[in-house]
Amino acid sequence: MDPKCSVCGIHVCESGNDDTLPTFCPMVDDEVYKEALEVVRSEKYNKFYKTSTLIERDGYAIWPRVKETMVLIDRMKFKKVGLAFCGGFIKEAKILTKIFKDNGIELTSAMCKTGGVDKTYAGLLEENKISPGEYEPMCNPVAQAKLLNKAGTEFNIVMGLCVGHDSLFYKFSDALCTTIVVKDRVTGNNPCVALYGADGYFAGRLDLDK
Ligand code: SF4
Repeated sequence: MDPKCSVCGIHVCESGNDDTLPTFCPMVDDEVYKEALEVVRSEKYNKFYKTSTLIERDGYAIWPRVKETMVLIDRMKFKKVGLAFCGGFIKEAKILTKIFKDNGIELTSAMCKTGGVDKTYAGLLEENKISPGEYEPMCNPVAQAKLLNKAGTEFNIVMGLCVGHDSLFYKFSDALCTTIVVKDRVTGNNPCVALYGADGYFAGRLDLDK
């Protein structure tokens, strides 16, 4: 049976209690957990995993994500860090770059519109554009990933890439990634607003057919 943790009501995995597992609980099968442990205990990932976990403890509810990210980079001793950002976040990318620089971290960065390739080259039609008939550069997450790969970044930060474009970036990035900003044009970049408002102001805006 496929895991369905998001509909679980008892969360035995979190509480450690000796309750009966729900029928859809994946913990009935040990194999995946053994495999996952092999990865996090491996030479390649163990330091990264432990460092991330210690940052969760050390900055718990005190450090904002920007700081957590800097601490991770610092503790991992990453020398080359990439930033893949959305063109809607130029200002934020500059602020982040300065904060990082002030803390001794030089960012190598690529904006989503890099390449300046019109959307039609990606197989889209003029009528698919936001403004048909005008030059509209495509978001180019694969190019962003490849530029940062070529630069040899050891770790990449994603800032505000579109839904789906971010997926391609993650797929083609050679380095591990973290997301510093998720874009949500409607909620001030806080997707949880729609979840918290699902029974209220957002009730009519969360159905596929509306
Ligand atoms: S792992 Fe099992 S107990 Fe934990 S949330 Fe998923 S279904 Fe619930």
